Amino acid sequence: MFICIDLGGSNIRGTWINSSGLTGRVAHSSRPKTLDGTKKSLITIINDIRSQCPGKVQKIGLASAGPMDTQKGAYLNPTNMPELKNFHLRNFLLDRFGLEVTLENDAQAAALGEIFKGCLTGETDAMVFTLGTGLGSGVVVNNRIWRGKLPAGPELGHLYLGPGRKVKCGCGQTGCAETWLNAKALHDLVLANGLNIISLRDLDTCLEELNPMAIKALKQYGHRLGLYLSQVVSVFGISNIGLGGGLSRLAPYFISSAQQTLAHRLSKRKWLIPEKICNSPDPEMSALWGMCYLMIQD
Ligand SMILES: [Zn+2]
Repeated sequence: MFICIDLGGSNIRGTWINSSGLTGRVAHSSRPKTLDGTKKSLITIINDIRSQCPGKVQKIGLASAGPMDTQKGAYLNPTNMPELKNFHLRNFLLDRFGLEVTLENDAQAAALGEIFKGCLTGETDAMVFTLGTGLGSGVVVNNRIWRGKLPAGPELGHLYLGPGRKVKCGCGQTGCAETWLNAKALHDLVLANGLNIISLRDLDTCLEELNPMAIKALKQYGHRLGLYLSQVVSVFGISNIGLGGGLSRLAPYFISSAQQTLAHRLSKRKWLIPEKICNSPDPEMSALWGMCYLMIQD
């Protein structure tokens, strides 16, 4: 039995999962934006899950937006959670619960989760992109998270995707793929097409009603995603792509445009065109499944 936690910018969620993937009820709580508050919320949610777990808990696995040095078990300088800078999460959990602790970047955990229980179940190689507030990425090679020699693993969201987008990325630069493909980028595209919506939530209704401005914005978004994917497949040569995060729900409206751009960009290198581009069946679960699989592998 494993306790799996996903610690995000504003929420913490978690559950117990056993080695066959059987899962308990998912507990949610909001995350106070202080170090003390985060510690307290973690203790409460982990105690809650432990008390409901039907078997003996062996390990705790926690996925979180980084960057985190997973070897040391500490946050580096998390752009969206500055209050957790240098927080030694592994020691904290070890001291409090006396259980072995595994830490992982949330997008990398999500990638592993998709081959364990998600849209790429049974595959051994995959690249998974989390499209939401940011652009998270995870690369899995031979069933293992690939991180090279980097403490936090690859950060494909910060690949340069060209000039023309003035918005600054969390890393301090402009032109990062994240600024072209995150939720704000899509919102800006919708506005630029003349459709005034206050929140991206309103976009779903416009799309269901086949609003031409919304449809056009999603096609343009798909084109950007296709450009981006044509670059990452050229680096990694991995033919299974998974999409997660909040924006993946809109894939039916942007995926064919992404595929067209991929086919065009790679027309002379057709072997690089991904065989599968699929959507996570449950983006809220991917990182939790991934933590479970990572602890099984340990
Ligand atoms: Zn960046």
